[in-house]
Amino acid sequence: IATQINIAINNASIYSKIEEMAIRDGLTGIYNRKYLTERIDQLLMEAERKHSYVSLALFDIDKFKKINDTYGHPFGDEAIKSAARIADKYALLNGGIAGRYGGEEFVVVLPDKNVEEAYAVLREIHEAIRSHTLTFNEATQVNIDVSIGIANYPLTGSLPQDLLNRADYAMYFSKLNGRGRITIDSDAIYEKSKELH
Ligand code: GH3
Ligand code: MG
Ligand code: MG
Repeated sequence: IATQINIAINNASIYSKIEEMAIRDGLTGIYNRKYLTERIDQLLMEAERKHSYVSLALFDIDKFKKINDTYGHPFGDEAIKSAARIADKYALLNGGIAGRYGGEEFVVVLPDKNVEEAYAVLREIHEAIRSHTLTFNEATQVNIDVSIGIANYPLTGSLPQDLLNRADYAMYFSKLNGRGRITIDSDAIYEKSKELH
């Protein structure tokens, strides 16, 4: 009997490990794109029901190709991991979730946060990322920076894909305006960014 219980417990823990692996990104351990997309759907439905807000930020590491080219891919991976850790920490502290959206691109979803509140959180994330120093070969100090875009439900979009798209254009606007900055989505920013794309 003891053995059977043991096997049952092991199966349960293996099962929950597999479940965790399906929703998390292999490199960083934060949520993957698929799970993020599902959660955004759910959070928007809840916000609609509660007549509340959801802010959605997208950020991308600046000139990341240069980091890879200069210090190598494993070091690039470390930079991605550190950005992910910071995003995850501040998202959790503020009742939100963070995920890896693509290579060096991340999403932070902040339920019940209006644009001003979300901006304050993203400023903290931005400061933490750019003040975190990585060390290459125990000798060279390297800092990374990111460009950020923030969209908001229901202010600038309603559907998950709209919000992601609008945050992406706002982020692109940050890139065009010197990188290392935060852009809040609006119709004017969206039109301008599309025009320049
Ligand atoms: P920008 O400021 O315009 O964003 O410039 P960038 O160089 O960051 O832009 P780009 O999107 O062209 O480069 C992203 C690079 O990220 C390309 C790809 O090789 C690298 N990358 C994507 N995923 C990973 C990963 O998991 N690890 C590492 N080390 N590099 C990755
Ligand atoms: Mg990119
Ligand atoms: Mg980039």
